Amino acid sequence: TAMCLSQELEDTNKWGLDMFKITEYSGNHPLTVIMYSIFQERDLMKTFCIPADTFITYMMTLEDHYHADVAYHNNIHAADVVQSTHVLLSTPALEAVFTDLEVMAAIFASAIHDVDHPGVSNQFLINTNSELALMYNDVSVLENHHLAVGFKLLQEENCDIFQHLSKKQRQSLRKMAIDMVLATDMSKHMNLLADLKTMVETKKVTSLGVLLLDNYSDRIQVLQNMVHCADLSNPTKPLELYRKWTDRIMVEFFHQGDREREKGMEISPMCDKLSASVEKSQVGFIDYIAHPLWETWADLVHPDAQEILDTLEDNREWYQSMIPHSPSLPEEQDPEKGGGGEKFQFQLTLEEEGESDTELEEAESPLEEDNSGSDSKTLATDDSESAELERLSPGSAGRDSPPPAHSSPLRNTLAKQKEVLHFDNRRALERTLSQPDGGTSLGCPELGRRGSLEARELGLDSEGNLTFLPLGT
Ligand SMILES: [Zn+2]
Repeated sequence: TAMCLSQELEDTNKWGLDMFKITEYSGNHPLTVIMYSIFQERDLMKTFCIPADTFITYMMTLEDHYHADVAYHNNIHAADVVQSTHVLLSTPALEAVFTDLEVMAAIFASAIHDVDHPGVSNQFLINTNSELALMYNDVSVLENHHLAVGFKLLQEENCDIFQHLSKKQRQSLRKMAIDMVLATDMSKHMNLLADLKTMVETKKVTSLGVLLLDNYSDRIQVLQNMVHCADLSNPTKPLELYRKWTDRIMVEFFHQGDREREKGMEISPMCDKLSASVEKSQVGFIDYIAHPLWETWADLVHPDAQEILDTLEDNREWYQSMIPHSPSLPEEQDPEKGGGGEKFQFQLTLEEEGESDTELEEAESPLEEDNSGSDSKTLATDDSESAELERLSPGSAGRDSPPPAHSSPLRNTLAKQKEVLHFDNRRALERTLSQPDGGTSLGCPELGRRGSLEARELGLDSEGNLTFLPLGT
């Protein structure tokens, strides 16, 4: 086992290291082991005079405060995010950009970013009047808690790994870690991404070809996005690993869904084991959250992340191909899907295959009946959106309407039109969410999704969910 462990740790610097094996070979201490390996690799213990026994005592204590009975948000996920951040920090476009203190802050933030996670979402904690929600006034409840616990544990016996830092260094590290962990709250995702896009558009490069980040705001923004990317990196990993993560998040979601059902609460999207489509959820998650984020990151560090992006796209195609097909059922009438006039809404309706025309928006209805065979990529996206919307509508559970697969020239045209619509909607959404007011509406407690109607319809609730998805929670 020791042999196996050291052999596995040779992949410490590689995207796609198997954290499940590390977990097995380390006697369920992947976080401690990978942190030690990375701190050694980066010489951080020497640089910051961290005694090895203190380091291990703190890490074991921290790891122990992740819940063993939580399927996804446990020490394995934390270790995975740590290692992913470590690899992203080494990307050539960022070579020598960050100081040792910043590097340590990013790795430390990754290590603590989900500690003491109870396996339910912020929205669940808020809706159930939990102690945590009360403590943090419903604002980034979990993320605030992870930070508080991570820092508090430094005060335990022989746990202060930062004891030899100067006061200024400690303050700086603390501020950065707080900024990074708070940015893992999925309700911050759209704003974070919008700012990253702006940075990409105006990016400056030094004579050495690395990014020029000459102020705190730019530096922390890249670090926040980096940890956020690491937190959302499951779909960019080798498929066998990605599938294991997906299995785990679904166990956690369904457990929350069961608790919601018992309490007579509305069941959160993707959390209803009786109606959820795992595959559609992942395709939707990739299309609306993971791919836009990684595509932008890849632009920032171009061409360093090309391979990651390719894997993400391959994995998306795999989940798309795994969406089960079953006979179409008639669409039920749902007032929530009716009027509204949200762009996205009619698009969702448009996507629905084999349903009646009655609820289509005027302009779209002529197109609808024949869009079923449009190219798989477009269709996939649409399906997942519809799937999310369905979960929002009471009474629609369990319906799964796959497109009859026939194709025609008309369909190809329609597919293109849908592609355009789709794009517009996404842009519109991002605009909405990045407006100053967007921040406020994001905080809207309703259903754990974005407050804005468009965002909500967008199946962003899949992201709102993402609030607890393999995401930044
Ligand atoms: Zn996380």
